[in-house]
Amino acid sequence: MGHIAIVEDEAILRELISYAMETCHYTSRAFGSAEEFLSSYQAGDIYDLLLLDITLPGISGTDLYRTIRDAAESMIPTIFLSAHNAEMDKVSALDLGADDYITKPFGVLELGARVKAVLRRAGRSTSPDRNILRQGPILLDANTRTVKVDGIPVELTNKEFALLESLMQDIGRPLSRQEILDRAWGVNAAIETRTVDMHVKTLRRKLGDASRFIRTVRGVGYKFDSNMV
Ligand code: CA
Repeated sequence: MGHIAIVEDEAILRELISYAMETCHYTSRAFGSAEEFLSSYQAGDIYDLLLLDITLPGISGTDLYRTIRDAAESMIPTIFLSAHNAEMDKVSALDLGADDYITKPFGVLELGARVKAVLRRAGRSTSPDRNILRQGPILLDANTRTVKVDGIPVELTNKEFALLESLMQDIGRPLSRQEILDRAWGVNAAIETRTVDMHVKTLRRKLGDASRFIRTVRGVGYKFDSNMV
């Protein structure tokens, strides 16, 4: 598993790459400019690999690469994306320190294979991101605060998200309503425990079929049951 940052100013290509990453079972976050990516990166968001278009409006891909490389202790593994007639050739991209270079247009499978190879070389393919929880059809990404069921995004409120995250962090262990409140609502929440029941109800409705993972434990509270796969 890997969490991939995509920096590409062409919307159609951005969507295609996001789709390619999803097909390869990677999570990703796409940015339309180097500036957008930088604000996420500087806020502490962590990525396993960067797919970086060279020609961008504003800060260029190569300048972004230099900026990160010069500031960070360890550079994010990077694959440059370039138009066929770009000013920069493969040799100079690799000279700069990039891990790989791919020329547009490229196929989904080719891109996936390159990403996999770079992640493997970087030793990241075996270090799952602890902010990404996956169980059965449910994928919870705390980096982007998104939840998908079978690849389809599910809109959750902040509390529903925190509730699901609490349960998925302790798969198989029953959590009392009070524990859930402490985790998802915060320590000082002066809220009645039946609030948890109300949120479990709306969360289950939104998860549809996948709600079968959230089990009521009589006399205790709730648990996320991995045996339901
Ligand atoms: Ca471009």
